[in-house]
Amino acid sequence: MALGGTVHQGCAARGIETEGGRLAAVVTEKGTIRTPAAVLAGGAWASSFCRQHGIRFPQASIRQTALAVSPGDGEFPAALHTAEISMTRRLDGGYTLAISGRGRVDPTAQLLRFAPQFLPMFQRRWRNLALGGLEGIRSGHEGLARWRLDRPTPMERTRILDPAADPAAVALTRRRALELIPELKQRSLTAAWAGYVDSTPDGVPGIGEIARLPGLVLAAGFSGHGFGIGPGAGHLIADLVSGAVPLFDPRPYHPDRFRSSARGKVADF
Ligand SMILES: Cc1cc2nc3c(=O)[nH]c(=O)nc-3n(C[C@H](O)[C@H](O)[C@H](O)COP(=O)(O)OP(=O)(O)OC[C@H]3O[C@@H](n4cnc5c(N)ncnc54)[C@H](O)[C@@H]3O)c2cc1C
Repeated sequence: MALGGTVHQGCAARGIETEGGRLAAVVTEKGTIRTPAAVLAGGAWASSFCRQHGIRFPQASIRQTALAVSPGDGEFPAALHTAEISMTRRLDGGYTLAISGRGRVDPTAQLLRFAPQFLPMFQRRWRNLALGGLEGIRSGHEGLARWRLDRPTPMERTRILDPAADPAAVALTRRRALELIPELKQRSLTAAWAGYVDSTPDGVPGIGEIARLPGLVLAAGFSGHGFGIGPGAGHLIADLVSGAVPLFDPRPYHPDRFRSSARGKVADF
């Protein structure tokens, strides 16, 4: 902002415009921003946005549940991760509890579309994944609707993905936490929530400029490690947009790699 940039929060992007085959503008609900470069970092909405522009980005949402317990007696580690349970101390002295990698797969049109590419991962992780319900269809982020630049998009109707917590996951998480640390029994459940982990078929984000749409850099599909790798990923994205030499080889992250795993279907990158 000190250099003249502006920040527009709560402002949905509806699509992009091109000129001479390059990105020329981003159309938002509040107006059009002319720009030669844009980063598409729309989390679980990224694949739907890509599809509007003929870009095939295989993405699936895994609904993962977490819960919080109240502050109380006992000194436990600030952060603890085991195969059974993860726990992190909260600012108020309570703890956030979750089971890493465990989630529900809510069936959607997009899930069916990319199912062949995700099957190997689902097969490897079937112990931790279960079929979900209608949450994904209700959220609208994986529908096949065509977005129009002059009308509110499905993203604007939902704004914030806030799917329901899975009661079975809440019960299992509590049980495993008590098995590990029985003293947690005195602490009450204060909240339970869920979020969509936007995943790619290989669990690695897609970061790179779309070859058939120069100027548009995709950065999505962080597959449950977006907080952890955020600083490095952010640096890489900034390098790609500014034309700087990247700190590390960006090729393994390029979404182009999904072409070869599309089982005969060549993607549109
Ligand atoms: C329950 C749960 C636990 C997790 N635990 C961990 C963890 O322990 N460690 C870890 O590293 N990661 C964890 N993650 C994953 C982490 O939250 C994500 O990887 C990370 O948030 C991804 O960041 P992002 O910026 O790519 O997407 P997001 O954080 O999803 O941000 C995308 C943003 O784009 C906005 N957007 C979408 N479409 C549009 C549009 N058309 N116009 C304008 N804005 C738009 C969305 O509203 C959103 O604000 C967890 C995720 C969940 C759900």
